Amino acid sequence: MADRDTVMETEEKEVVSRNFIEQEIDKDLAEGVYNHVQTRFPPEPNGYLHIGHAKSILLNYGLAQKYGGKFNLRFDDTNPTKEKTEFVESIMDDVKWLGADFEDRLFFASNYFDQMYQCAVFLIKKGKAFVCDLTADQIREYRGDFTTPGKESPYRNRSVEENLALFEEMKEGKYRDGEKVLRAKIDMASPNINMRDPVIYRVARMSHHNTGDKWCIYPMYDFAHPIEDAIEHITHSICTLEFEDHRPLYDWVVKECEFENPPRQIEFAKLYLTNVITGKRYIKKLVEDKIVDGWDDPRLVSIAALRRRGYTPEAIKMFVEMVGVSKANSSVDYAMLEYCIREDLKLKKPRMMAILNPVKLVIDNYPEGQAEMLDVPNNLENPGLGDRKVPFGRELYIEREDFMEEPPKKYFRMFPGNEVRLMGAYFVKCTGCEKDADGNITVVHGTYDPETKSGSGFEGRKVKGTIHWVAVPTARQVECRLYENIVDEEKGKLNEDGSLNLNPHSLVVLKECYVEPALAEGKAYDSYQFVRNGFFCVDCKDSTPENPVFNRIVSLKSSFKLPK
Ligand code: ATP
Ligand code: MG
Repeated sequence: MADRDTVMETEEKEVVSRNFIEQEIDKDLAEGVYNHVQTRFPPEPNGYLHIGHAKSILLNYGLAQKYGGKFNLRFDDTNPTKEKTEFVESIMDDVKWLGADFEDRLFFASNYFDQMYQCAVFLIKKGKAFVCDLTADQIREYRGDFTTPGKESPYRNRSVEENLALFEEMKEGKYRDGEKVLRAKIDMASPNINMRDPVIYRVARMSHHNTGDKWCIYPMYDFAHPIEDAIEHITHSICTLEFEDHRPLYDWVVKECEFENPPRQIEFAKLYLTNVITGKRYIKKLVEDKIVDGWDDPRLVSIAALRRRGYTPEAIKMFVEMVGVSKANSSVDYAMLEYCIREDLKLKKPRMMAILNPVKLVIDNYPEGQAEMLDVPNNLENPGLGDRKVPFGRELYIEREDFMEEPPKKYFRMFPGNEVRLMGAYFVKCTGCEKDADGNITVVHGTYDPETKSGSGFEGRKVKGTIHWVAVPTARQVECRLYENIVDEEKGKLNEDGSLNLNPHSLVVLKECYVEPALAEGKAYDSYQFVRNGFFCVDCKDSTPENPVFNRIVSLKSSFKLPK
């Protein structure tokens, strides 16, 4: 009995923790509406994917995984104006990188143009579609609005034969763009404006990246999308909230086209992040004005940008799961994304030494010309990462802020007379400093105690401060780029003239940084913790073996609190 109770308890818990989409799917499976689960991610190849799309990808892929179903990547390329092959490539790369394995389940909606055309003919034959000669303006006028019902088109009652002939002529290229359209015959008095005889095909003399000049008529999104889903045997067509009002039309299309076991649409709220820019229009302007370095500038949240910044698929997955799915639009704090990347990298990455704002420290009692290699653990919290050798010597770089001539209270780092630990090395006592004519500190001096070598078990005395360092002769000079949010929403995302209110400190470039020699060997996307300074990643665009460039992924600390 006890065993059975435990099983029931865990089962109950599982039900409680399921999101509303999973609950719908469970219900459909239990009621036999579907006997399998099939999802898809349907991007329009008209731009780069961003963090919001990542949510949709991982949600759809995750559902297919969870229910032992299939996941399709389908390019929704039915609109020939905007599509570009370049975007097809980048989207495929991004989806793969996120780990949403579509295997050979890659589809292009434009391959279904024949079937869509057949569906349109089928609807005409059923008396459910008609060719209309009204102009775009007239159609809008006749449509009415929320308070006024629509007016029927004078062409609504054309015979099936006439409609078939005219639609055929549309396809043959007899009409100019906009001269005639095919409309679904539904209900001009419907309270839902989408149901007021929507246009389903238009004449458009445009070349398509896949079908070339084969077609001069193209289906509208609301007609094409449900057919694409039905052709691929999608069960749950998951989309964002703005399509909720279109669902009756989606259902109408799959029903009237008489698809067996038709798909159903479920909507969820879009993901919005604070202090970032996702709108294509804005990003395009930032790129054109050279304020950002392309669509993958590390301050943006396109998937390519997050990857370049040093984010991992695991961190993005953690983030998406933490955010969850809901029916209500809301904004998520950018700090939550930062929390996820810190969590992901914390134990995985070696903790190395890099000096971002250097000043020289000379250890006067360390023999001149001598050098040694010290064994330093890579990650104290994860011994599995092993040790590495770090060169040590008489002259070191330390952070400028780790020395103060006249320190405030509770400053435990270097100041004359104070002793600190050099991370992984010795205790060193500060003896003073040198300055230039303007009073700037040029060199810090100290003496070390050979007895205090790290790992020697020395227990004679304790020090309060530990600082990191890099030995001068073997140091590699590198560039480090530090980032902040590109806009600050609290101060207002937009200026009065509608332009973006940009944060002038969103990018700080430090050209004179010194790192342990091992760090200069990193390849594009390799990432590390720089002790006390944050997580950094080798820039994939600008870093070269001669001039390494590191992007700060995230600093080590934040005020972000995990939501309970
Ligand atoms: P954008 O205009 O921001 O590029 P879109 O909706 O035009 O977005 P599509 O290529 O049409 O981009 O969208 C592909 C899929 O991604 C759709 O199912 C869409 O609902 C989903 N999607 C787009 N933006 C978000 C977001 N912010 N959060 C979650 N899903 C999103
Ligand atoms: Mg779109």
